[in-house]
Amino acid sequence: MIVVCKQHVNKALKMIFLPHIQPISKENVLSGHFKCHVCTQNADFKLYNFESKRKHVTQEAI
Ligand SMILES: [Zn+2]
Repeated sequence: MIVVCKQHVNKALKMIFLPHIQPISKENVLSGHFKCHVCTQNADFKLYNFESKRKHVTQEAI
């Protein structure tokens, strides 16, 4: 998972495979817990990919 500010969403989309975006709640943005992966300002979005989820599903299948 990486987190980015509004300006760097497009850049982050190109950095990860099968991206999935989730907005960070306003309280968390203001708290400064999440810093943009590119510019280290407060982040507005989380980006995931499904790699870990897919592994979990595989384990359940076994
Ligand atoms: Zn940024």
